Amino acid sequence: MSIEVRNLVKSFGSFTALDGVDLKVADGELLALLGPSGSGKTTLLRIIAGLDWPDAGEVLIDGEDALARGARERHVGFVFQHYALFRHMTVFENVAFGLRVQPRALRKSEAAIRVRVRELLNLVQLDWLSDRYPSQLSGGQRQRIALARALAIAPKLLLLDEPFGALDAKVRKELRQWLRSLHHEISVTSIFVTHDQEEALEVANRVVVMDKGGIEQVGTPGEVYDSPATAFVHGFIGESIELPVVVRDGQIRLGDRSLGSAVDGTPAGESRLFVRRHDLQIGPAGSGVLEGKVARVRSFGPVHRAEVALSGGETIEVDTSREGELRPGEVVGLNPRRFRIFARN
Ligand code: ADP
Ligand code: MG
Repeated sequence: MSIEVRNLVKSFGSFTALDGVDLKVADGELLALLGPSGSGKTTLLRIIAGLDWPDAGEVLIDGEDALARGARERHVGFVFQHYALFRHMTVFENVAFGLRVQPRALRKSEAAIRVRVRELLNLVQLDWLSDRYPSQLSGGQRQRIALARALAIAPKLLLLDEPFGALDAKVRKELRQWLRSLHHEISVTSIFVTHDQEEALEVANRVVVMDKGGIEQVGTPGEVYDSPATAFVHGFIGESIELPVVVRDGQIRLGDRSLGSAVDGTPAGESRLFVRRHDLQIGPAGSGVLEGKVARVRSFGPVHRAEVALSGGETIEVDTSREGELRPGEVVGLNPRRFRIFARN
């Protein structure tokens, strides 16, 4: 099922939660909506689902106006962060629920329901838990059952709102891989909401980056990481260091230092330079376009992270893999291997 959203606007009182959103989702895609808390992800998802309605704009499902139809008629399956499974029902009955409450004309026979539930439990690899109750499952197992339950009615669209948000880091990572391969198997059009950039980049084939009710960029994980379209995207995805620079006469300046010539199209005037932490090369004093003094070094595993006070007054954090390379008090040179410059808004 394909989805198209056109110029969607939604306000709550005087607050604009969605500010003219345009988006196309192709059939069979696994798309991530990524953005900080409050950026409008859930609002957008609820409108696509038919759980809420916009003030203006259009939602087209397979080219047809979806706003005239309710959630049930849109054939949508949901999984939320806290998807309350029915506590008094076994896993099996939880998954069977959606099939049992279908209108009589569509309802399957009891034997067919049992076959379908078995299939779904196999799909989420939890058939061995079918007689348990939700309280006897781990958080990760519960979310997999919630997914099986959402898939029971064979939805044409699957919407997942921070489905792994309440789980611990290790389980979250396992479930990312699992969700990817599950999607590969069933290839139902899916929209996955998360505020976790690593999760979005790892799970989805396209990522929609949102901020303040608007879309900042849509692209593959590689595109949003390597070619961020805005300062917000650069700062939100990957570990970025931001420095205030001035671009004048084709030169990039930080305080009284020149960082070299600006490429064509670089905004002139006061601007923001962004560099990924791993793109900032450290060397001995005098070796870099920037110079700073090491204030503090912290080590964890293979990473040695140094706080460096730049001569201009800013403090940044840089990484080095060589133990003992950096010592507090030492003066170092810094060279950004790659960076991008965005206008100060
Ligand atoms: P996200 O899912 O990205 O965290 P939401 O879509 O839930 O963001 O919310 C976007 C903004 O809209 C938030 O600032 C939130 O407080 C506001 N909002 C969402 N739903 C309501 C509501 N029913 N009433 C008032 N404000 C709301
Ligand atoms: Mg939300």
